[in-house]
Amino acid sequence: MGRIIRLSVTVCCLFAFVAFPVACGGDKKEEVPVEKAKQVSKAKIEHTPEAKQVSNAKTENAPEAKHVSKAKPSPDKAVAMLKAGNTRFIEGISNHPHINLGRLIQSGKESQGDHAYATVITCSDSRVPVELIFDAGVMDIFVVRVAGNVCDVDEIGSIEYGLAHVNTPVLVVLGHTQCGAVTAVTHAIHGTGHALERNIPPLVDNIAPAVRRAISKYPELLGDSIIPNAIEENVWQGIEDLFMNSPATRNLVKSGSVKVVGAIYDVGTGKIEWLPDAKVDYIFKTVEANPARAMKAMASEGH
Ligand SMILES: [Zn+2]
Repeated sequence: MGRIIRLSVTVCCLFAFVAFPVACGGDKKEEVPVEKAKQVSKAKIEHTPEAKQVSNAKTENAPEAKHVSKAKPSPDKAVAMLKAGNTRFIEGISNHPHINLGRLIQSGKESQGDHAYATVITCSDSRVPVELIFDAGVMDIFVVRVAGNVCDVDEIGSIEYGLAHVNTPVLVVLGHTQCGAVTAVTHAIHGTGHALERNIPPLVDNIAPAVRRAISKYPELLGDSIIPNAIEENVWQGIEDLFMNSPATRNLVKSGSVKVVGAIYDVGTGKIEWLPDAKVDYIFKTVEANPARAMKAMASEGH
């Protein structure tokens, strides 16, 4: 019996050590009744800074008010980190940071909201391995992946989580060359498409306005030669859809807490082309002047 209790205390202490190494005291073994040990653990949990952060957040409605992470880089610095990571990747001098056992242990103990420095939405394409192309590791990037990097309800909800709760100072909407989703929509619009499985049309319907806009802007580009332009337009479409449907994102951009950038990854070279900030600003201002934009930032009570 005594052995069982000691074992339980050891397990509890192991848990406490992972969560609260200072409180547990490393190697120090103390015979504590199991129930008391549980109470101590619970009390510690309630007084961690993270728990305080959550309870503070509950009392504040504005999403930008939760943006209180102390260790985060500025939006411009975060963009610079991503750019430097991609440069290392294409030059073959990646640092491969944050992929060791120590980082995993840290990930289990600490909040990603204090570490992740970017939210990235990109395509599901296997040629776009997000952490690798930015030379990043565990707990560095909050990633949303969906075929065609479309920004529809689920993706926008994920982005809002990445920006307002994981506190990432930058969002990258990342398209890529040779995108199959954009190609399929282009073929459908050109009347050269083929039958699609039942759930694909409602997934890729967000891409159609981008392809149509590319075709009308560059009528001289026939057949598949329009696809690279359609891929860029699809990035702008994603940013517009996000701004139109996410007042929380607009508020974070307005407050300067978050920067939104568009980019295109070249699957053949690994190089990221960073699209102009001025176009993002233009889309933002256009959406702000659009009476059809969503206005209510927060979900109703009970969600
Ligand atoms: Zn794709």
